Amino acid sequence: MSIVEDAKKGIITEEMKVVAAQEGVTEDFIRRGIASGRIVIPVSPYRKVKLCGIGGGLRTKVNCSVGTSTDIVDVDMEVEKVKAGERAGADTIMELSTGGDFVEIRRRCIEATTLSVGSVPLYQAFIEAARKDGAVIHMREDDLFRITEEQAKLGTNFMAIHTGINRITLERLQRQGRHGGLCSRGGAFLTAWMLHNDKENPLYAEFDYLCEILKEHEVTLSTGNGMRAGAVHDATDRAQIQELIINAELGDRAHEMGIQVIVEGPGHVPLDEIETNVKLMKRMSGNKPFYMLGPIVTDIAPGYDDRVSAIGAAMSSMYGADFICYVTPAEHLALPNPEEVYEGVISSRIAAHVGDMIKLNKRDQDLAMGHARRDLDWEAQFNLAINPSRARQIRSERASADTDACTMCGDYCALKIANKVIKKLD
Ligand code: SF4
Repeated sequence: MSIVEDAKKGIITEEMKVVAAQEGVTEDFIRRGIASGRIVIPVSPYRKVKLCGIGGGLRTKVNCSVGTSTDIVDVDMEVEKVKAGERAGADTIMELSTGGDFVEIRRRCIEATTLSVGSVPLYQAFIEAARKDGAVIHMREDDLFRITEEQAKLGTNFMAIHTGINRITLERLQRQGRHGGLCSRGGAFLTAWMLHNDKENPLYAEFDYLCEILKEHEVTLSTGNGMRAGAVHDATDRAQIQELIINAELGDRAHEMGIQVIVEGPGHVPLDEIETNVKLMKRMSGNKPFYMLGPIVTDIAPGYDDRVSAIGAAMSSMYGADFICYVTPAEHLALPNPEEVYEGVISSRIAAHVGDMIKLNKRDQDLAMGHARRDLDWEAQFNLAINPSRARQIRSERASADTDACTMCGDYCALKIANKVIKKLD
């Protein structure tokens, strides 16, 4: 029986108990969330992981993606990136390699982490076809399903699967055009394959067969967002919404079959369209956990896209996104290194927290930090910081002669002066 079937029968599993304790909610809240499709706990029968609940009423989670490219295949570096992501506080890892030995890289990345791991099986299917037969358009449909099963058996907890790109979605895309093209590799592979072969997307046409595989191996389905905008000028366009409608319908079907479902979202979205996107996703999908990719809110800041996406992620979380895919400073420029992975996760964690301050009214840590700053209690400030080592390092590098104050104001520390005359609130 799957965790969804357990939940529907009123059974509270060990996983539900662990997540309830982590989140400070009742076990039945988690059970009802899974039964209704509002919450998922990505599990795998092949691997024990640090459990992570994603969905309505829970802390916003952050994913850290790693993976080789065709240009840079350094498995040790990918393992370092997995470790950097986990050290920075990511809740999940996605292994998205497109170069090298897929099975070996995934196996080593999975071994390097205690977190749930996600994948995109179609990358391997298309790239193996390109290696063997010269182009992705030669991908064999059976390989999509075979590789999905093989990756599940490696202990993959969730998979982004591009189910919502069908002939109607492509028609819409071709009719309207795009300012920024397609930025989803999965979306681009499938589009090329479908148009060249004049065939329906096998992941859509044989969705029930796909679900049988996912159910057998308890994989959480993340409905891929292949039509997401790659430029803010394409945000919320017809192709993206068409894909969402299909994914929402398929998400319901998968959940009825006993599969946990996450719905993926865009992409590049200007600030004034974020609320619409979150609410549309939630409304159409029946409040399934919403996985926001980024979003990038302006296209003109390469080198700083971790911060650009943190602005969008904070708003997304505030309006109800449950899961944020981090972005690194190297986005749009190069494959990230471990330091950039670390920075990207920290930026997204800040954004998720900022959203949760509104969405879940989670402000205790901020209140404690306010008191620690007022009291010039530096150890407490470090311990409350999202990245204690960075805060500690900056202070120690530029220490003040006055050990209570810092070198910003030195002898004229406003807090020291004011603390003598202002009543302290607890
Ligand atoms: S010196 Fe200035 S910046 Fe530093 S703790 Fe005091 S008031 Fe704050």
